[in-house]
Amino acid sequence: FIQLRGVCKSYGEQLVVMDNLSLDMRADDRLVIIGPSGSGKSSLLRVLMGLEGIQGGTISFQGQPYIAGGSGCGKPLHEGLRTQIGMVFQHYTLFPHLSVLGNLILAPTKVHGLSKAEASEKARAYLARLGLESKLHAYPSQLSGGQKQRVAIARALMLEPKLMLFDEVTSALDPEMVIEVQNVMLQLAEQKMAMIIVTHDMHFARHIATRVVFCAGGKVIEQGPPEQIFTQPKEARTREFLEKVL
Ligand code: ATP
Ligand code: MG
Repeated sequence: FIQLRGVCKSYGEQLVVMDNLSLDMRADDRLVIIGPSGSGKSSLLRVLMGLEGIQGGTISFQGQPYIAGGSGCGKPLHEGLRTQIGMVFQHYTLFPHLSVLGNLILAPTKVHGLSKAEASEKARAYLARLGLESKLHAYPSQLSGGQKQRVAIARALMLEPKLMLFDEVTSALDPEMVIEVQNVMLQLAEQKMAMIIVTHDMHFARHIATRVVFCAGGKVIEQGPPEQIFTQPKEARTREFLEKVL
């Protein structure tokens, strides 16, 4: 589904965030990426989203060449593939001057050429699924943190992505809101959405992941099913990391 082969990325001369990194993901996988702060987890998601380039290696998506090293700017080889990936960030990225409905229908009408009526109908359906139908005409400033994140998820889903990327989407939220956002992600998991999730919440990681990937120093140190990584990590570095965060 996704294949990274020999991916190299650094910022400037010194800071290597991906060092000949290879990684495979299947369409029914939910990868949870864990690793120390600064290990390049967010960078990896931004690369997959086409927001940043890589210096070397290749990434394919759904069996087609998607990103190649050397382009620098990160422009994907295949724009059609990029629009099949949705991303939600740690800090809400809703447009503050648009209502919830306005946020949801913007890309579908501009990018996918849906009519306003079609997109609005779809927005209603997604919001209803996430228990937010009463917020259709609210503005982001009138929503709680958890509601904003659920709207951000709904907005990404409007484009019917084949893969969703989540970068610490609950780490700025109060505990009770964490649960409501995690429940939405679990609902997506039940619907077999392919996801790559970066989180520091090891309990949630264990619950949602089909595979946990521990990255450090620009490399995949260890990966496996959550039960194995969390109870019987093979690598000393994984054990040290887990001792600190569990
Ligand atoms: P955290 O767990 O703290 O979110 P992370 O694993 O997501 O960390 P990244 O945000 O990917 O780490 O950053 C990896 C390294 O690259 C960090 O040292 C960071 O300071 C650096 N970095 C990230 N973005 C840039 C950039 N645009 N320019 C220069 N350096 C950057
Ligand atoms: Mg990060």
